[in-house]
Amino acid sequence: MLRKLVLGLLLCTVAGGYWWGYLAAGSGAVQPPPPSVAPVARQVLKPSGMGASLTPAAPLADTDSDAVRPIFAAFAMGDFVGALNLADSAKDLLSQRPAFAAWLGLQMPVLLASAGWARLKVGDCDQARAYFERGNALKPTVEATKGLAVCHYKQKNMSVARDYFLAYLAAVPNDAEMQLLYTDVLESEARFAEAVGILRQLVHAAVPADQAHLAQRLASMEGRAQEGTLEQAEASAHFRLTFRAAEQGDLTPLVLTTLEDALVEFAEQFGLPPPLLPIEVVLYPRDAFKSVVTNGPAWAEGLFDGRLRIPVSSAALDEGASSELQTVLRHELVHALLALMSDSRSLPPWFDEGLAQRLACNQRPCAGFDFGGQPGGFLPEASFMTSYLSLTAVNAGRAYHQSLFLIMCIEAKYGASSLRQILSHLAPGSSIDSDALLATVNGHFATIYSSAKAHWQRAQLPAPSL
Ligand SMILES: [Zn+2]
Repeated sequence: MLRKLVLGLLLCTVAGGYWWGYLAAGSGAVQPPPPSVAPVARQVLKPSGMGASLTPAAPLADTDSDAVRPIFAAFAMGDFVGALNLADSAKDLLSQRPAFAAWLGLQMPVLLASAGWARLKVGDCDQARAYFERGNALKPTVEATKGLAVCHYKQKNMSVARDYFLAYLAAVPNDAEMQLLYTDVLESEARFAEAVGILRQLVHAAVPADQAHLAQRLASMEGRAQEGTLEQAEASAHFRLTFRAAEQGDLTPLVLTTLEDALVEFAEQFGLPPPLLPIEVVLYPRDAFKSVVTNGPAWAEGLFDGRLRIPVSSAALDEGASSELQTVLRHELVHALLALMSDSRSLPPWFDEGLAQRLACNQRPCAGFDFGGQPGGFLPEASFMTSYLSLTAVNAGRAYHQSLFLIMCIEAKYGASSLRQILSHLAPGSSIDSDALLATVNGHFATIYSSAKAHWQRAQLPAPSL
């Protein structure tokens, strides 16, 4: 269903996060989260037509049937990689058994495409691409072409992705899900008008449940189409920055240097690997941000949805404002790097947001922790596990603040290298629930939670009177 894919398109958004003005405002007032941003569940794209099955063999000699049977059985059980491995290991039989060889030759493209999708679904696009490419070399299939489009898209290799999207959509023009993903590729290539055209068609054809999301996406793309004529791009080693040349040109050295320096710092201190392909960064005039970036909460001071989208004001080069801009950039960069490491899966919010705040302020003036004047009680354990967007405004603000506190409690309890240890185990296929993350340091979330809560409550006690 398209609605799922709208969310799927945000598969980058999922692991994304927002910079909350709360911290920028110190212990100031908590701003409300938006009322209508639904939690976004991670969607795994499914290949169309991959209910594909192997062709039953024509009547075969018993020995041939013996060779076919285990491949069929593995495939039927959904063990697509296993079925492919069995087929590959049967190579020695081929010269002696022409009927089996003929059958297998016909199945290989399906086996390879299915194995590719099995790997893609667990985030292993490198292996998935190898299977898809091997399959397409034998006989191109729409499933493998679609898989290649999605993998290159996920790996941010947009110019290559574009070719596969075009090939796939030429064969399956009505796949609305893939059209929607394709608009994201077009955005990367600054082909906004083309993307707007596709989105208009999608909005027109959408069922009511999908329309709000698609209309938001269309409004955002129309905004970029308008901005596009004013925009200019500049690249550094790991980032591609789009900005308004006239108003934001002076900011580009600050933005790119901040991001590149942060990459080096995060790699050295926390083991976060730099991206293999440039991360896109888009600067928006602060006034236009809310109308253009409609997929973010109203309170967002920055957004990562596969791209870093950052509002900047004309005063951004002033000392205080530039420091805040640097913090926002570093915060969103953490989300981007975590998304790359985890195949854009939804990490527990306490970890994703806590870590983004912790690293954003690492060894900088905003580092440290302020309990604030009236921080309120410690939230229930379950509040840290689901999207903060579903919390009330006050609780969402506390959740951000207390997430940072949880991260700092982990460092206090398990040592200065504990974050690095936890991050070293984060991978596309790794378990990412709270206990799995903490298992790396022999910790449990319940333990950290209760000690953080106790510490928090002690901090609330009135000072003893003399
Ligand atoms: Zn965030």
